[in-house]
Amino acid sequence: MFRVVQRLTVNHTMLKALRGTKDILPDEARLWQYIEASSRYIFSIYGYKEIRTPVIEEASLFIRSIGNATDIVQKEMYVFTDRGGRQIALRPEATASVVRSYIENSIGNKEGLSKLFYIGPMFRSERPQKGRQRQFHQLGVEAIGSDAPLLDAEIILLAGDLLKKLNIHNFKIKINSLGCKKDKEKILEDHRKAIKPHLKSLCDECNERYEKNVLRVFDCKNPECQKIVSKIDAANSLCKDCEGHFKSVKSALDELKVAYEVDPRIVRGLDYYTKTVFEIVQEDLGAKDAICAGGRYNNLIQDMGGKSTPATGFAFGIERLILAIKDSDVKSGPSLDAFIAIVDKDKFKQGFALLSSLRKKGIACDIDYEDKSLKAQMRKAEKLGARFVIIFGGDEFKKGKVALRDMMKREQREVELEDITKEICDYTA
Ligand code: ATP
Ligand code: MG
Repeated sequence: MFRVVQRLTVNHTMLKALRGTKDILPDEARLWQYIEASSRYIFSIYGYKEIRTPVIEEASLFIRSIGNATDIVQKEMYVFTDRGGRQIALRPEATASVVRSYIENSIGNKEGLSKLFYIGPMFRSERPQKGRQRQFHQLGVEAIGSDAPLLDAEIILLAGDLLKKLNIHNFKIKINSLGCKKDKEKILEDHRKAIKPHLKSLCDECNERYEKNVLRVFDCKNPECQKIVSKIDAANSLCKDCEGHFKSVKSALDELKVAYEVDPRIVRGLDYYTKTVFEIVQEDLGAKDAICAGGRYNNLIQDMGGKSTPATGFAFGIERLILAIKDSDVKSGPSLDAFIAIVDKDKFKQGFALLSSLRKKGIACDIDYEDKSLKAQMRKAEKLGARFVIIFGGDEFKKGKVALRDMMKREQREVELEDITKEICDYTA
């Protein structure tokens, strides 16, 4: 069957990255690698395994899980119709995708409790500003298969450990409980009653939220609305079971010596949350202070067509982690072990052979191909962050030696050419 191909227009002006998206350039990428490697390390010691799901999904996945009345679905989700007429969304978050995959691949059949983590880009059509992008990145965990309060405590502890590993301090963990489905309904009703007298002073959107999902009023970013809702008594009444569950989470956190604050205003902007919810804020980030958000979603797996399975998880925004990390906190060693500088052009072949043999031994090294002066090569070595420079040629070479310059100590000495590989290997071992 032939289909009509959409006519594409071509922009002939200088092309730039889309608004709200950013290139992560090589210098900054090191910080990203540091964050990712630190997270992978912490996730693995807590027993979490990686899952990678597609960036595109059927839009219905997010409408059904996050909720049709949420800001994410109503205003922020990138949705398009593909050539087959399917409604596709760029994922705005990963929990729904992980749950879809968990059900589709029967992950729960292999193990009682599935502990999964992910790292990757998410997409929301929001107004870009510091710490808020249209393509941003999250790293997070999902623990699917247990309602144990200790699991809630574990993931909160894990989130705090990750921050400490990244040398981020000054953070506050705020927790709350939304209870079970029934409790949540009661909480909604109580909040509706409490908010009703203030409706005229709240923004149009909050008036809409009042009708559709009143908890979202507490999530409004409008400072006027925040002022009003901060005075509203948001005390939640929970059933005996949920109250007991929340109490156990709190006492587990106390035993683990995790500092936290109970904040009844933490309600989270997504529909699927139940019982324990939490946010981590970092004081230096100002208005965009939420660096992590999470909580239980005990009904989501069943709602999405799976067996009734309790679960909990969280997500960190990587851009906000980067804002919270001070560059000097990142211990970034030299990026190159050795640079080979060639003084006499005819020594290039020998220099190149040494380069290859060092690389085979796992030594990160490089050379200049442009036949530049020794001074220019030294500048390049400096720029590349080389720990050592091996200078090939000149008087030393005639004696079967090379000059080995330690770029950190700013010292230089002669080394027998045949010993140079061992010297560098010993240093990097
Ligand atoms: P916010 O209140 O900032 O809008 P949110 O409640 O929409 O956040 P979640 O959906 O819970 O955020 O996502 C978890 C984390 O992802 C947030 O705490 C934040 O660090 C990060 N995040 C969310 N949206 C963006 C964005 N547009 N750009 C950068 N980071 C984001
Ligand atoms: Mg948001």
